[in-house]
Amino acid sequence: MTETKTVTIIPGDGIGPEVVQAAMRVMDSAGAGLEWELCEAGAAVFAKGIASGVPEETLQSIARNRIVLKGPLETPIGYGGKSANVTLRKLFETYGNIRPVRELPGIQTPFTGRNIDLVVVRENVEDLYAGIEHMQTPGVAQCLKLTSTKGCDKIVRLAFELARAEGRKSVHCCTKANIMKMTEGLLKQSFEAIAPEYPDIAAHQILVDNCAHQLVRKPEQFEVIVTTNMNGDILSDLTSGLVGGLGIAPSANIGSQVAMFEAVHGSAPDIAGKNCANPVALLLSSVLMLRHLGKFDAAFAIKHALLCTLEQGCLTGDLASGKSPASTTEFTDAVVANLGKHSENYSVRNWKAISLPPESPDPVATRAASRKLAGVDIFLESGLDTVSLGQSLDAICADTPLRLKMISNRGTKVYPPSGAMTDCVDHWRCRFVFRDHASPSEEALQNLLARVSEKHYWMHLEKLQEFDGRPAFAKAQGED
Ligand code: NAP
Repeated sequence: MTETKTVTIIPGDGIGPEVVQAAMRVMDSAGAGLEWELCEAGAAVFAKGIASGVPEETLQSIARNRIVLKGPLETPIGYGGKSANVTLRKLFETYGNIRPVRELPGIQTPFTGRNIDLVVVRENVEDLYAGIEHMQTPGVAQCLKLTSTKGCDKIVRLAFELARAEGRKSVHCCTKANIMKMTEGLLKQSFEAIAPEYPDIAAHQILVDNCAHQLVRKPEQFEVIVTTNMNGDILSDLTSGLVGGLGIAPSANIGSQVAMFEAVHGSAPDIAGKNCANPVALLLSSVLMLRHLGKFDAAFAIKHALLCTLEQGCLTGDLASGKSPASTTEFTDAVVANLGKHSENYSVRNWKAISLPPESPDPVATRAASRKLAGVDIFLESGLDTVSLGQSLDAICADTPLRLKMISNRGTKVYPPSGAMTDCVDHWRCRFVFRDHASPSEEALQNLLARVSEKHYWMHLEKLQEFDGRPAFAKAQGED
């Protein structure tokens, strides 16, 4: 007898209830030993005026059971409307988004026969998707891209552990570290530091633009790709497309406390309630969940039953390409009928449990032995031309311990003028650094800010620091 486990189940919106029902039926028929705790989230909850889209009872159920299978949740359209999906992922720190794609029988794509079988491991809670956005001026927007060594270390370890658990031989670290040397660079650094602990797995670095190109040219070269949140969001949709699209793309959101399993697709409102949605993506997500719970026999049985069903040519309308399509329930019936059969042509990997990276409660993951205050970037809103603004700031700081090193406009140095043909906007980064013989102090920064704000409107400050003798800030384009 397998141990019974209670799962929080969220049917969700649109086609969600139909595919969730299919997945529950298949798992029950496979004797997976699960009990379901039915919970609400999404459109119906927003309609009750709960701004997060997730009621307290659902949060309590997740906190209790630590394992969730969910249908898609609609995101309210409009300014300020937060996604209930993102809320759930962030509240329970499910930092690792795992999206496997594999060529499946009977599903013809331009890549059929290439043996695509790869996993994108996407960091799921940091990066631009932290959603820290501000309008800096009425016409200039900013989104903070926050990444951390702690977050990067966890996702890199998860990728290597997953590769080991699945018997894979290589991991690619995919970043844009050539441009964003700090934020994307942290993932690269974590990867370089951790890879030697996994000598059995080849470690490769690749830039995200080339990765997208290579995924289309030669996708079979990849086994595991670990990447930051936004890169992973885009690349994993691309990889889903390579093998047949959203109807068959599963995902797992893994955290050290809670794991949440869902299809990649959304609520597809155009086909909701028509009994035509493809349940494969959620069935494959259920296989991931059963593996995570250590219920390998049930996972194996369902994966084989699914492969057999597809081999028999049973396909829902999104994939049937003209042939008579199976309804959601007909497809589910076929999978249930195939439980116990083994696909002869498609192998199923021998899985092991993933050993999750340890988590430290200490928020400080990296300490600097020395640090120094080097200056400040003051971000101003101004309608002045570049030279007038520069001359005004030069005069303001003339008798202070700080000098104006440069002004940049959206990252390009424009003052002192260097001939750049920048089409400026009313958002200026004014970089002040301590003069050679001045002693750096907070007080000097505050005095400077007080003086600047007598003449100009500032909206944002960034201290310039050096950690262990190295600048902890990037240069502007064109800055020496
Ligand atoms: P979508 O719901 O994924 O649907 C896009 C199209 O893909 C559908 O119109 C349908 O195409 C096809 N499709 C998706 N899943 C399918 C399935 N299982 N079987 C057959 N066809 C399927 O994307 P969307 O229209 O952009 O998003 C709709 C809502 O879902 C939005 O509110 C969005 O915020 C939300 N969403 C939620 C999640 C989540 O909960 N994780 C993820 C993505 C989007 P045809 O028109 O060809 O039938």
